[in-house]
Amino acid sequence: MEGSSEGCSRSPATSSVSNAGAPVGQIGQLIAAEYDDHAALERFLEGVDVVTYEFESIPVSTVRFVAERMKVFPPPTALATAQDRLLEKQLFTDLEIPTPAFAPVDNIQDLQRAAARIGLPLVLKTRRMGYDGKGQAVIRDAASLEAAWSQLGGSPLIVEQFVEFQHELSVIGARDTAGREVFYPPIENVHREGILRKSTAPAPNVTPELAAVAIDYCRRVMDRLSYVGVLALELFSADGVLLANEMAPRVHNSGHWTIEGAETSQFENHLRAVLSLPLGATTLRGNSVMFNIIGHIPPMDRVVAVEGAHLHLYGKAPTEKRKVGHVTLVAPTEADLEPRVGAIRAALGLGSDVG
Ligand code: AMP
Repeated sequence: MEGSSEGCSRSPATSSVSNAGAPVGQIGQLIAAEYDDHAALERFLEGVDVVTYEFESIPVSTVRFVAERMKVFPPPTALATAQDRLLEKQLFTDLEIPTPAFAPVDNIQDLQRAAARIGLPLVLKTRRMGYDGKGQAVIRDAASLEAAWSQLGGSPLIVEQFVEFQHELSVIGARDTAGREVFYPPIENVHREGILRKSTAPAPNVTPELAAVAIDYCRRVMDRLSYVGVLALELFSADGVLLANEMAPRVHNSGHWTIEGAETSQFENHLRAVLSLPLGATTLRGNSVMFNIIGHIPPMDRVVAVEGAHLHLYGKAPTEKRKVGHVTLVAPTEADLEPRVGAIRAALGLGSDVG
Protein backbone atom coordinates (compact mmCIF):
# COMPACT_ATOMS: atom_id res chain seq x y z
CA MET A 1 0.00 0.00 0.00
CA GLU A 2 3.01 2.22 0.17
CA GLY A 3 3.19 5.22 -2.10
CA SER A 4 6.39 6.86 -3.13
CA SER A 5 5.61 10.54 -3.12
CA GLU A 6 8.40 12.91 -2.33
CA GLY A 7 6.10 15.82 -2.03
CA CYS A 8 4.88 16.69 -5.49
CA SER A 9 1.18 17.33 -5.45
CA ARG A 10 -1.37 15.10 -7.10
CA SER A 11 1.26 12.57 -8.15
CA PRO A 12 -0.03 10.03 -10.64
CA ALA A 13 -1.83 7.02 -9.20
CA THR A 14 0.84 4.44 -9.76
CA SER A 15 -0.20 0.86 -9.26
CA SER A 16 0.90 -0.36 -5.85
CA VAL A 17 1.95 -3.63 -7.44
CA SER A 18 4.44 -1.79 -9.63
CA ASN A 19 5.80 -0.28 -6.40
CA ALA A 20 7.17 -3.62 -5.22
CA GLY A 21 10.59 -1.91 -5.01
CA ALA A 22 9.32 1.15 -3.10
CA PRO A 23 11.96 2.70 -0.81
CA VAL A 24 9.84 1.98 2.28
CA GLY A 25 10.74 -1.68 1.84
CA GLN A 26 14.26 -0.70 2.94
CA ILE A 27 13.03 0.23 6.43
CA GLY A 28 9.78 -1.63 7.09
CA GLN A 29 7.37 -4.28 5.91
CA LEU A 30 6.15 -3.60 2.38
CA ILE A 31 2.82 -4.95 1.15
CA ALA A 32 2.50 -4.25 -2.55
CA ALA A 33 -1.03 -4.71 -3.90
CA GLU A 34 -3.69 -2.84 -5.85
CA TYR A 35 -5.55 -0.14 -3.93
CA ASP A 36 -8.84 -1.97 -4.35
CA ASP A 37 -7.48 -5.31 -3.17
CA HIS A 38 -9.57 -5.55 0.00
CA ALA A 39 -7.96 -8.79 1.15
CA ALA A 40 -4.53 -7.14 1.01
CA LEU A 41 -5.89 -4.09 2.81
CA GLU A 42 -7.28 -6.31 5.57
CA ARG A 43 -3.89 -8.02 5.82
CA PHE A 44 -2.19 -4.62 5.99
CA LEU A 45 -4.50 -3.60 8.87
CA GLU A 46 -3.62 -6.62 11.02
CA GLY A 47 -1.48 -5.45 13.89
CA VAL A 48 -1.72 -1.78 12.87
CA ASP A 49 -2.89 0.81 15.46
CA VAL A 50 -3.37 3.83 13.24
CA VAL A 51 -3.03 4.50 9.53
CA THR A 52 -1.62 7.54 7.80
CA TYR A 53 -0.45 8.31 4.27
CA GLU A 54 1.84 10.76 2.53
CA PHE A 55 0.70 10.24 -1.05
CA GLU A 56 -2.19 12.12 -2.56
CA SER A 57 -3.32 9.84 -5.33
CA ILE A 58 -4.64 7.03 -3.23
CA PRO A 59 -8.27 6.49 -4.26
CA VAL A 60 -10.51 8.06 -1.61
CA SER A 61 -12.53 4.80 -1.63
CA THR A 62 -9.42 2.97 -0.34
CA VAL A 63 -8.95 5.45 2.49
CA ARG A 64 -12.67 5.23 3.35
CA PHE A 65 -12.42 1.40 3.38
CA VAL A 66 -9.61 1.74 5.91
CA ALA A 67 -11.45 4.44 7.88
CA GLU A 68 -14.38 2.05 8.42
CA ARG A 69 -12.00 -0.34 10.19
CA MET A 70 -9.26 1.78 11.71
CA LYS A 71 -8.31 5.31 12.72
CA VAL A 72 -6.94 6.98 9.58
CA PHE A 73 -5.45 10.45 9.40
CA PRO A 74 -5.60 12.85 7.58
CA PRO A 75 -9.39 12.45 7.26
CA PRO A 76 -10.66 11.14 3.89
CA THR A 77 -12.56 14.41 3.26
CA ALA A 78 -9.28 16.32 3.26
CA LEU A 79 -7.91 13.92 0.66
CA ALA A 80 -11.05 14.15 -1.49
CA THR A 81 -10.84 17.97 -1.41
CA ALA A 82 -7.15 18.07 -2.27
CA GLN A 83 -7.66 15.70 -5.21
CA ASP A 84 -10.02 18.10 -6.96
CA ARG A 85 -8.83 21.63 -7.70
CA LEU A 86 -12.42 22.86 -7.94
CA LEU A 87 -13.40 21.56 -4.47
CA GLU A 88 -10.17 23.00 -3.13
CA LYS A 89 -10.82 26.47 -4.53
CA GLN A 90 -14.45 26.34 -3.37
CA LEU A 91 -13.22 25.51 0.14
CA PHE A 92 -10.85 28.50 0.11
CA THR A 93 -13.65 30.78 -1.07
CA ASP A 94 -15.98 29.44 1.58
CA LEU A 95 -13.35 30.15 4.24
CA GLU A 96 -12.82 33.67 2.85
CA ILE A 97 -9.27 32.83 1.88
CA PRO A 98 -8.40 34.80 -1.26
CA THR A 99 -7.66 32.59 -4.27
CA PRO A 100 -7.14 33.39 -7.98
CA ALA A 101 -10.47 33.96 -9.78
CA PHE A 102 -11.57 30.58 -11.14
CA ALA A 103 -14.32 28.78 -13.03
CA PRO A 104 -15.10 25.14 -13.78
CA VAL A 105 -14.70 24.29 -17.48
CA ASP A 106 -16.58 21.43 -19.13
CA ASN A 107 -16.71 22.78 -22.68
CA ILE A 108 -15.20 25.48 -24.89
CA GLN A 109 -18.10 27.82 -24.16
CA ASP A 110 -17.35 27.68 -20.42
CA LEU A 111 -13.76 28.59 -21.23
CA GLN A 112 -14.76 31.50 -23.47
CA ARG A 113 -17.20 32.83 -20.84
CA ALA A 114 -14.52 32.55 -18.13
CA ALA A 115 -12.05 34.41 -20.35
CA ALA A 116 -14.57 37.22 -20.80
CA ARG A 117 -15.29 37.41 -17.06
CA ILE A 118 -11.80 36.88 -15.57
CA GLY A 119 -9.69 38.29 -18.41
CA LEU A 120 -6.37 37.07 -19.83
CA PRO A 121 -3.88 35.59 -19.13
CA LEU A 122 -5.40 32.42 -17.70
CA VAL A 123 -4.21 28.98 -16.64
CA LEU A 124 -6.29 26.00 -17.70
CA LYS A 125 -5.75 22.96 -15.46
CA THR A 126 -7.15 19.48 -15.13
CA ARG A 127 -9.19 19.31 -11.95
CA ARG A 128 -7.68 16.00 -10.94
CA MET A 129 -4.31 14.26 -11.21
CA GLY A 130 -2.29 17.27 -12.29
CA TYR A 131 1.10 17.39 -10.62
CA ASP A 132 4.43 19.11 -11.08
CA GLY A 133 2.92 21.44 -13.68
CA LYS A 134 1.48 18.61 -15.80
CA GLY A 135 -2.08 18.97 -17.09
CA GLN A 136 -1.79 22.76 -17.35
CA ALA A 137 -1.83 25.28 -20.19
CA VAL A 138 -1.22 29.01 -19.93
CA ILE A 139 -3.51 31.02 -22.22
CA ARG A 140 -2.09 34.43 -23.07
CA ASP A 141 -4.36 35.51 -25.93
CA ALA A 142 -7.88 34.78 -27.16
CA ALA A 143 -6.50 32.89 -30.17
CA SER A 144 -5.03 30.26 -27.81
CA LEU A 145 -8.33 29.36 -26.12
CA GLU A 146 -9.20 26.68 -28.68
CA ALA A 147 -5.69 25.19 -28.61
CA ALA A 148 -5.70 24.95 -24.81
CA TRP A 149 -9.14 23.34 -24.93
CA SER A 150 -8.00 20.76 -27.50
CA GLN A 151 -4.91 20.02 -25.42
CA LEU A 152 -6.72 19.37 -22.14
CA GLY A 153 -10.45 19.01 -22.95
CA GLY A 154 -11.77 15.53 -22.28
CA SER A 155 -11.26 15.60 -18.53
CA PRO A 156 -12.99 17.99 -16.12
CA LEU A 157 -11.07 21.28 -16.04
CA ILE A 158 -10.75 24.45 -14.04
CA VAL A 159 -9.53 27.76 -15.38
CA GLU A 160 -7.80 30.31 -13.19
CA GLN A 161 -6.59 33.85 -13.44
CA PHE A 162 -2.82 33.79 -14.15
CA VAL A 163 -1.30 35.52 -11.14
CA GLU A 164 1.74 37.74 -11.69
CA PHE A 165 3.12 36.86 -8.30
CA GLN A 166 6.43 38.02 -6.85
CA HIS A 167 6.89 34.94 -4.68
CA GLU A 168 5.46 31.51 -4.05
CA LEU A 169 5.06 30.59 -0.41
CA SER A 170 3.90 27.65 1.63
CA VAL A 171 2.77 27.33 5.21
CA ILE A 172 3.01 24.02 6.99
CA GLY A 173 0.95 23.28 10.07
CA ALA A 174 0.26 20.26 12.23
CA ARG A 175 -3.00 19.60 14.05
CA ASP A 176 -3.50 16.80 16.55
CA THR A 177 -6.54 14.74 17.52
CA ALA A 178 -7.45 17.29 20.24
CA GLY A 179 -7.33 20.20 17.78
CA ARG A 180 -4.03 21.62 19.06
CA GLU A 181 -1.97 23.23 16.31
CA VAL A 182 1.58 24.29 15.56
CA PHE A 183 2.92 26.09 12.48
CA TYR A 184 6.29 26.53 10.84
CA PRO A 185 7.04 30.02 9.54
CA PRO A 186 6.14 30.62 5.87
CA ILE A 187 8.60 29.20 3.37
CA GLU A 188 9.54 30.75 0.00
CA ASN A 189 9.54 28.28 -2.88
CA VAL A 190 11.01 28.40 -6.38
CA HIS A 191 9.46 26.16 -9.02
CA ARG A 192 10.73 25.53 -12.54
CA GLU A 193 8.61 23.63 -15.07
CA GLY A 194 6.10 23.23 -12.23
CA ILE A 195 8.63 21.30 -10.10
CA LEU A 196 9.82 22.56 -6.72
CA ARG A 197 13.53 23.35 -6.95
CA LYS A 198 14.35 25.41 -3.87
CA SER A 199 12.78 26.29 -0.52
CA THR A 200 14.01 29.00 1.84
CA ALA A 201 12.95 29.19 5.47
CA PRO A 202 12.00 31.49 6.91
CA ALA A 203 10.72 33.16 3.72
CA PRO A 204 12.93 36.25 3.32
CA ASN A 205 10.30 38.50 1.76
CA VAL A 206 7.50 38.07 4.26
CA THR A 207 6.68 40.61 6.98
CA PRO A 208 5.51 39.32 10.37
CA GLU A 209 2.01 40.62 9.51
CA LEU A 210 1.88 38.69 6.25
CA ALA A 211 3.25 35.59 7.99
CA ALA A 212 0.40 35.81 10.52
CA VAL A 213 -2.14 36.04 7.68
CA ALA A 214 -0.64 32.99 5.95
CA ILE A 215 -0.72 30.97 9.16
CA ASP A 216 -4.30 32.06 9.82
CA TYR A 217 -5.32 30.75 6.36
CA CYS A 218 -3.68 27.41 7.07
CA ARG A 219 -5.42 27.25 10.45
CA ARG A 220 -8.82 27.92 8.84
CA VAL A 221 -8.37 25.03 6.42
CA MET A 222 -7.25 22.61 9.13
CA ASP A 223 -10.07 23.59 11.50
CA ARG A 224 -12.77 23.30 8.83
CA LEU A 225 -11.57 19.81 7.85
CA SER A 226 -11.14 18.66 11.50
CA TYR A 227 -7.71 17.86 10.23
CA VAL A 228 -5.21 15.57 11.94
CA GLY A 229 -1.61 15.45 10.72
CA VAL A 230 0.59 17.82 8.74
CA LEU A 231 -0.96 20.01 6.05
CA ALA A 232 0.72 22.40 3.62
CA LEU A 233 -1.01 25.39 2.10
CA GLU A 234 0.61 26.85 -1.02
CA LEU A 235 0.18 30.55 -1.66
CA PHE A 236 1.10 33.20 -4.20
CA SER A 237 2.33 36.50 -2.83
CA ALA A 238 1.33 39.26 -5.25
CA ASP A 239 1.76 42.94 -4.35
CA GLY A 240 1.45 42.21 -0.65
CA VAL A 241 -1.66 40.05 -1.07
CA LEU A 242 -1.72 36.31 -0.44
CA LEU A 243 -3.74 34.05 -2.73
CA ALA A 244 -4.17 30.35 -1.97
CA ASN A 245 -3.12 28.11 -4.84
CA GLU A 246 -3.56 24.64 -3.40
CA MET A 247 -3.27 22.49 -0.32
CA ALA A 248 -1.48 19.22 0.31
CA PRO A 249 -2.83 16.89 3.01
CA ARG A 250 0.55 15.45 3.91
CA VAL A 251 4.13 16.17 4.79
CA HIS A 252 5.35 18.46 2.06
CA ASN A 253 8.45 18.78 -0.05
CA SER A 254 8.76 22.45 0.94
CA GLY A 255 9.09 21.29 4.58
CA HIS A 256 11.94 18.84 4.13
CA TRP A 257 14.36 21.40 5.60
CA THR A 258 12.61 20.99 8.99
CA ILE A 259 14.58 17.75 9.55
CA GLU A 260 17.68 19.78 10.39
CA GLY A 261 16.32 23.33 10.40
CA ALA A 262 13.61 23.12 13.07
CA GLU A 263 13.39 21.83 16.62
CA THR A 264 10.87 19.18 15.51
CA SER A 265 10.64 18.08 11.89
CA GLN A 266 7.38 18.02 9.94
CA PHE A 267 7.70 14.23 9.79
CA GLU A 268 7.96 13.88 13.55
CA ASN A 269 5.10 16.32 14.10
CA HIS A 270 2.95 14.39 11.65
CA LEU A 271 3.57 11.19 13.59
CA ARG A 272 3.01 12.93 16.92
CA ALA A 273 -0.30 14.33 15.60
CA VAL A 274 -1.67 11.02 14.34
CA LEU A 275 -0.49 9.21 17.50
CA SER A 276 -2.10 11.79 19.84
CA LEU A 277 1.30 12.72 21.29
CA PRO A 278 2.14 16.33 22.23
CA LEU A 279 3.21 18.29 19.17
CA GLY A 280 6.85 19.40 19.10
CA ALA A 281 8.23 22.94 18.94
CA THR A 282 8.53 24.42 15.46
CA THR A 283 11.28 26.83 16.55
CA LEU A 284 13.97 27.36 13.92
CA ARG A 285 17.56 26.30 14.37
CA GLY A 286 18.76 29.00 12.02
CA ASN A 287 18.15 29.88 8.38
CA SER A 288 17.63 27.01 5.99
CA VAL A 289 17.68 26.46 2.26
CA MET A 290 16.65 23.19 0.63
CA PHE A 291 17.46 22.19 -2.94
CA ASN A 292 15.78 19.22 -4.55
CA ILE A 293 18.05 16.78 -6.36
CA ILE A 294 16.37 16.03 -9.65
CA GLY A 295 17.25 13.48 -12.31
CA HIS A 296 20.78 12.58 -11.23
CA ILE A 297 22.84 11.66 -8.18
CA PRO A 298 25.38 14.44 -7.50
CA PRO A 299 28.98 13.82 -6.36
CA MET A 300 28.37 13.10 -2.68
CA ASP A 301 31.83 14.16 -1.52
CA ARG A 302 31.38 17.65 -3.00
CA VAL A 303 27.92 18.08 -1.48
CA VAL A 304 28.78 17.04 2.05
CA ALA A 305 32.00 19.11 1.93
CA VAL A 306 29.85 22.26 2.09
CA GLU A 307 29.50 23.51 5.65
CA GLY A 308 25.99 23.00 7.03
CA ALA A 309 24.95 20.68 4.18
CA HIS A 310 22.79 17.65 4.91
CA LEU A 311 22.30 15.24 2.03
CA HIS A 312 19.29 12.95 1.73
CA LEU A 313 19.01 10.36 -1.05
CA TYR A 314 15.79 8.40 -1.33
CA GLY A 315 17.08 5.20 -2.93
CA LYS A 316 15.19 5.89 -6.16
CA ALA A 317 16.61 5.22 -9.61
CA PRO A 318 17.33 8.61 -11.23
CA THR A 319 15.24 9.37 -14.29
CA GLU A 320 14.66 12.73 -15.96
CA LYS A 321 12.77 15.17 -13.70
CA ARG A 322 12.44 12.61 -10.88
CA LYS A 323 13.13 13.88 -7.39
CA VAL A 324 15.76 11.51 -6.05
CA GLY A 325 16.88 13.41 -2.99
CA HIS A 326 17.43 16.80 -1.43
CA VAL A 327 20.10 18.84 0.32
CA THR A 328 19.36 21.12 3.23
CA LEU A 329 21.74 23.86 4.28
CA VAL A 330 21.38 25.34 7.74
CA ALA A 331 23.33 28.36 8.95
CA PRO A 332 23.04 30.66 11.97
CA THR A 333 22.17 33.71 9.82
CA GLU A 334 21.07 34.58 6.29
CA ALA A 335 24.51 36.09 5.62
CA ASP A 336 26.26 32.86 6.64
CA LEU A 337 23.99 30.94 4.30
CA GLU A 338 24.82 32.86 1.14
CA PRO A 339 28.31 31.47 0.34
CA ARG A 340 27.14 27.97 1.24
CA VAL A 341 24.25 28.26 -1.21
CA GLY A 342 26.76 29.18 -3.93
CA ALA A 343 28.90 26.15 -3.09
CA ILE A 344 25.91 23.78 -3.10
CA ARG A 345 24.72 25.15 -6.43
CA ALA A 346 28.12 24.33 -7.90
CA ALA A 347 28.15 20.85 -6.35
CA LEU A 348 24.66 20.11 -7.70
CA GLY A 349 25.41 21.64 -11.09
CA LEU A 350 22.50 24.10 -10.79
CA GLY A 351 22.11 27.22 -12.89
CA SER A 352 21.26 30.59 -11.40
CA ASP A 353 17.70 30.23 -12.80
CA VAL A 354 16.80 28.17 -9.71
CA GLY A 355 16.22 31.21 -7.50
P1 AMP B 1 0.13 23.81 -9.29
O1 AMP B 1 0.17 22.39 -9.77
O2 AMP B 1 -1.22 24.40 -9.26
O3 AMP B 1 0.87 24.01 -7.98
O4 AMP B 1 0.97 24.65 -10.36
C1 AMP B 1 2.36 24.44 -10.57
C2 AMP B 1 3.04 25.79 -10.69
O5 AMP B 1 2.46 26.54 -11.80
C3 AMP B 1 2.85 26.71 -9.49
O6 AMP B 1 3.77 26.41 -8.46
C4 AMP B 1 3.07 28.06 -10.12
O7 AMP B 1 4.44 28.31 -10.31
C5 AMP B 1 2.39 27.91 -11.47
N1 AMP B 1 0.98 28.33 -11.38
C6 AMP B 1 -0.07 27.53 -11.05
N2 AMP B 1 -1.23 28.23 -11.04
C7 AMP B 1 -0.91 29.49 -11.37
C8 AMP B 1 -1.68 30.69 -11.51
N3 AMP B 1 -3.00 30.72 -11.32
N4 AMP B 1 -1.00 31.83 -11.83
C9 AMP B 1 0.35 31.81 -12.05
N5 AMP B 1 1.11 30.70 -11.94
C10 AMP B 1 0.51 29.56 -11.60
